[in-house]
Amino acid sequence: MGWRLAHTYAEQLPGLFHSPVSPTPVRHPQVVVLNAPLAETLGLDADALSSDEGAAIFGGNALPDGARPIAQAYAGHQFGHFATLGDGRAILLGEQIAPDGRRLDIQLKGAGPTPYSRRGDGRAALGAMLRELIISEAMHALGIPTSRSLAVVSTGEPVYRERTLAGAVLTRVAASHIRVGTFEWAAAHRDHAALAALADYTRRRHYPGIGDAGRPHLALFDAVVERQAALVARWQLVGFIHGVMNTDNMALSGETIDYGPCAFMDAYDPATVFSSIDHNGRYAYGNQPAIAQWNLARLAEAMLPLFDPRQETAIELATSAMDRFASLFHRHWMDGMRAKLGLLAEEADDGALANDLLEWMQRSGADYTNTFRMLSRPGDAGQAAVRDAAFAAWHTRWRSRLQRQPQPEAEVVARMGAHNPAVIPRNHKVEEALAAATEAGDMSATARLLEVLASPWDHERDRPAFSSPPVPGGPAYQTFCGT
Ligand code: AMP
Ligand code: MG
Repeated sequence: MGWRLAHTYAEQLPGLFHSPVSPTPVRHPQVVVLNAPLAETLGLDADALSSDEGAAIFGGNALPDGARPIAQAYAGHQFGHFATLGDGRAILLGEQIAPDGRRLDIQLKGAGPTPYSRRGDGRAALGAMLRELIISEAMHALGIPTSRSLAVVSTGEPVYRERTLAGAVLTRVAASHIRVGTFEWAAAHRDHAALAALADYTRRRHYPGIGDAGRPHLALFDAVVERQAALVARWQLVGFIHGVMNTDNMALSGETIDYGPCAFMDAYDPATVFSSIDHNGRYAYGNQPAIAQWNLARLAEAMLPLFDPRQETAIELATSAMDRFASLFHRHWMDGMRAKLGLLAEEADDGALANDLLEWMQRSGADYTNTFRMLSRPGDAGQAAVRDAAFAAWHTRWRSRLQRQPQPEAEVVARMGAHNPAVIPRNHKVEEALAAATEAGDMSATARLLEVLASPWDHERDRPAFSSPPVPGGPAYQTFCGT
């Protein structure tokens, strides 16, 4: 099959960070989706993985060659409150060494109880796992750092939630699953050696450019701040709402992880929240940058003893590193906004131009994705300006801004087309596909959706069924955690 599994996490980190545990076999594992292109980049044989043997591996009934299954320990702040957690339903099989040399965690999500399951059953539902597969693969196609999804198998067993649902296991692929919460776990145990080992390991694995000289732990923190600022800017630019930005769901690698109640925004509104449990809008679209910074402050607190033995010095160093987040985020966001608006050089008023467009969207209830897509088609934008006086005023400013740059229109349009997706995973399309899959066992809508989402920059083919926003007046969209 092509497995080449290594185990540096288990070998190089103390036992505090992991527990050996075997997946619990399931009744009747069947491959529902296999991501063949991803299998290939991992050096795995997609045909072999589609067999019963593959289903047995993805269902946790058989271990791939060289696997050493563990559950990872971590803590985290959930909605602001500290808790000890750990993989309650995820089991790491090992780190696949891909043909290009990359080291990628292979993890089964929904593989049965672990020492960290608390009252949970260790299982996952088919709809939720297909949802993670669809959205994570869409994020990947959009060029946003993310964990990937290799396979979903149905288990032939029910899981009991508010309703009885079909069980499933997702095979997740990620640069690693080291979280802000992993550092909080070490800090909570007041185990300095473990904390230092974790920081060294994380630095070697994800930031090999940072050497041992100077203040390597502070340099690691700096680099994490930089990657998170870039990541959350990318989320904002495509209208992605993670939904549960607890510190245990923030990866040190800078990838998007733990797809639960996430969803893409339709009409632009910074207060947009989809998660049924986020009553106060803590994780609303507009709050994501501030929450990322809050999570990084928790990371800084956990790492504090590593920065300097004198607490006061350590706090000063951490504070000035933290303070870079806002300007780094703004720079990434502004660069992205310029690209979305076709602005090829910088002008001082570009921020105001972008914000005034967003304000117009909010007031008029305009669809976020499609407004930018409309701007990428000069004819469409002109027509919209004829219909709407408020938009016309903004449009005139934008057109004269574009005319001040020497590049030909074709170059501007190409730039915008490469930054304004033609399709995103629209909530109503995702739900449609999941309903067919879970209620009728019909995977055709999921297959079609995956195919469309794999080419978000294809502006040539019109795919109105996938690019139209939901019909106005429909029920408000809600997402659910932990299913
Ligand atoms: P999440 O909200 O998915 O990030 O999960 C938060 C914590 O709950 C993690 O420690 C998970 O491992 C755990 N968890 C979620 N669902 C289950 C389940 N069905 N069984 C056991 N643990 C779970
Ligand atoms: Mg989580």
